[in-house]
Amino acid sequence: MADITDAAASSVRRPSTPEEIAAIVVEAAKGAVPLTVVSGGHGPWSHDLADGIRLDLGALSAVEVDGTTVHIGGGAVWGGVATTLAAHGLAISSGDTASVGVGGLTLGGGIGWMVRSWGLAVDQLVGAQVVTASGQIVETSAEAHPDLFWALRGGGGNFGVITRFDFSAHPLPGIAFAENVIDGDAAPVLRAARELLREAPRELTVTYMDVPAMDPSAPAGARLSAVWAAPDPDRLRAVLEPISALDGVHTEITSPAYREVLLEMPEPEGEEQAAPGFIGGNGLYAELDDALIERLVAFRLAYPASVVFLRSLGGAFGEVPQEDTAFPARSAKWFVMAGAFDIPGLVDDEARASIRSDWSGIQAGRLAEYGNFADTERPEAVPGMFTEAALARLREVKATWDPQNVFRRNHNILV
Ligand SMILES: Cc1cc2nc3c(=O)[nH]c(=O)nc-3n(C[C@H](O)[C@H](O)[C@H](O)COP(=O)(O)OP(=O)(O)OC[C@H]3O[C@@H](n4cnc5c(N)ncnc54)[C@H](O)[C@@H]3O)c2cc1C
Repeated sequence: MADITDAAASSVRRPSTPEEIAAIVVEAAKGAVPLTVVSGGHGPWSHDLADGIRLDLGALSAVEVDGTTVHIGGGAVWGGVATTLAAHGLAISSGDTASVGVGGLTLGGGIGWMVRSWGLAVDQLVGAQVVTASGQIVETSAEAHPDLFWALRGGGGNFGVITRFDFSAHPLPGIAFAENVIDGDAAPVLRAARELLREAPRELTVTYMDVPAMDPSAPAGARLSAVWAAPDPDRLRAVLEPISALDGVHTEITSPAYREVLLEMPEPEGEEQAAPGFIGGNGLYAELDDALIERLVAFRLAYPASVVFLRSLGGAFGEVPQEDTAFPARSAKWFVMAGAFDIPGLVDDEARASIRSDWSGIQAGRLAEYGNFADTERPEAVPGMFTEAALARLREVKATWDPQNVFRRNHNILV
């Protein structure tokens, strides 16, 4: 039975079946009521308690394993998925954080800890059940409604409510994990990582993070984390030698279960504070050239409340033909995010202008923006999240499946 709560600004619905979801979608479409679809709740639209209907998919969190095919409810979160799959010796490369939703992360692409080994989350997707804007419940795959299935793989929440995702999971007996804490100048480490990743086996994916003490996502300071998608710490140690041999790098190699490397978001203490604004952004880059490295390191040094985050691409990610999914920039070798928190009292107008100017220097060379890390609604930015050909095709799929734009609380594809 659907659970209904009347919140001050919006009516929250917690359906538990595709049929209940279809009825809610039809109701929203008939009344032209804004509809917010919520899976893990980390997207910008979920934070905003706008008028309308908030469709919370939390009751659809089942994970069913059938050989290596895994059926996952549209409201599951990745931590729960990894726990269930570990019992079967399986894994899916998803994101790095346990509480992030399968819905939002997958529909936008999903750049995970093992993106070089197995590609994006969408590259592991083989089917999906969708409640469409007209209230139909349809099965999609490469054979069934292939255009709709194509659009779900990177086109975001524009095309319907996904009640079930079908993934092809990978056998994973274990992983090796390296934490390289960087004490001093990070630029030589990033240059070494770039060289290493040009030829590295696809078992290796690295993530660089430099965050201040105030950021709850990681310990303060710069570190390069490496996941090796096999239980072989000696091989990882050997592969990482060009990095661990550098001055100021302290390397620790362990053999955790994959579930253990998924990050936990700390519970907010006391009354939840509104998050500060963020000035910056992200991009998919063909290369991590010296100029970009210098800009990123200088950015972090210039602004105490700034963050810089990178993840290596290439490998399996780069082998998927560009036109096979709606995700942009398959030739990209690095994902980069950089920005500074706009903290009242710490950041004044002059600092704000300076951060914006430095960020625009960093963003200048990107191939595309990754929508899942674009955490504000910016309709003018949507074309920069796709190739021209993909955007044209997404518009056609939108016109076919959601001509009234019922699903608009997302990086919206306008027909
Ligand atoms: C702490 C943190 C870590 C992150 N790490 C990564 C990472 O490692 N890799 C990465 O790629 N991204 C990462 N992200 C970005 C993340 O992919 C996006 O924020 C994503 O939108 C979150 O999905 P969600 O389901 O939690 O959010 P939600 O707010 O629930 O969903 C986001 C949007 O997706 C759509 N949607 C969600 N579920 C459905 C569904 N079942 N059917 C139809 N539409 C749906 C809706 O339009 C919704 O507004 C991270 C984000 C955070 C906050």
